[in-house]
Amino acid sequence: MTLHQRPSLQAVPAYKQGKPAAAGASKLSSNESPHEPLPSVLDAIRDGIQSIHRYPSIAAPQVTAELAALHNVDPAHLTLGAGSVEVAAQLIHAVAAEGDEVMYAWRSFEAYPSLVRIAGATPVEVPLDADAKHDLDAMLAAVTEKTRLIFICNPNNPTGTVVEAEALERFIAAVPRDVLIVIDEAYVHFDRSAVRADGVELFKKNPNVAVLHTFSKAYGLAGLRIGYAISPLEVAENLRKVAIPFGVSDLAQRAAVASLQAADELAVRINEVVAQRERMYAGLAAAGYPVVASEANFVWITAGDATADIEARLEAGGVVARAFPGEGLRISSGSELDVDRVLAALGADSAAVAAAEGAIA
Ligand SMILES: *Cc1c(COP(=O)(O)O)cnc(C)c1O
Repeated sequence: MTLHQRPSLQAVPAYKQGKPAAAGASKLSSNESPHEPLPSVLDAIRDGIQSIHRYPSIAAPQVTAELAALHNVDPAHLTLGAGSVEVAAQLIHAVAAEGDEVMYAWRSFEAYPSLVRIAGATPVEVPLDADAKHDLDAMLAAVTEKTRLIFICNPNNPTGTVVEAEALERFIAAVPRDVLIVIDEAYVHFDRSAVRADGVELFKKNPNVAVLHTFSKAYGLAGLRIGYAISPLEVAENLRKVAIPFGVSDLAQRAAVASLQAADELAVRINEVVAQRERMYAGLAAAGYPVVASEANFVWITAGDATADIEARLEAGGVVARAFPGEGLRISSGSELDVDRVLAALGADSAAVAAAEGAIA
């Protein structure tokens, strides 16, 4: 006899984590920060260790107050979760149930399809356009009476492309006001585009926009699990109800506060990651790889059938990337050494780049 379980879960794959790397190899498969934690962040975590026999504060007053000040919003709009992936799940549970639709571009963040199905809702995936960008017209055309939530991943994981400010404003204006639009800004700190869409500003201007942020990527706290939403008050109230109690540890809260207080130091690191992203992009483009210009901490190669081959060459060169078979690879921007390895493994080292640039000039 088999147990009674939810039949709908048969369609849900378990989340596939970026591949681990052998000791000494470059792990560029999960968009993590290549930097070890800041000393001030480690101190804050050490200060909290003596209290791990206590439950954390669910209200998380200190980090909430810091974030409210940073974004100039009322603290009541802020809600936390064990990483923004948990907050994304909260958002889906808050607005969608069986039969409701949740829309997002595809390919986008790996977690969206499972989170939607686990909530019992129906995923609506709208293909990216030929430039690997959100096809906002097609998304608008796919809105139905059942649409409850639309994710806009900006910059998009895994392609690194952005939705420009003006286009996003037009999209928001055209979507029915009773549909929640969630702008997932996990990579916003790496976005150097001239007309960056500012999710928090769009939240302030529109009653149906929420923003998702995380401490995992730019702030280097992936292992501690803390992320947050800024959402309309009625949504924020429901997020507090659907959140699993005590999901955000006290250590994570302390590390987040210390990170916000070290924003200047972190900005230097973020700039380094952006510089390495640009170097990786330029090297791969000059060597003839079909790379997509990225505003995140990774570069996407639209490798198609060559994906497995490129993945194998990277692995032979001590680099673990994220491959999507038959589609392409996402390579996180790491340290200078990491990017050296990528370029060497793919025959796009600086000598090759210089030669290619010379040939163009
Ligand atoms: C990494 C990522 C997240 C969430 O990361 P957490 O570690 O759960 O905070 C959310 N959205 C996108 C698009 C991501 O790539």
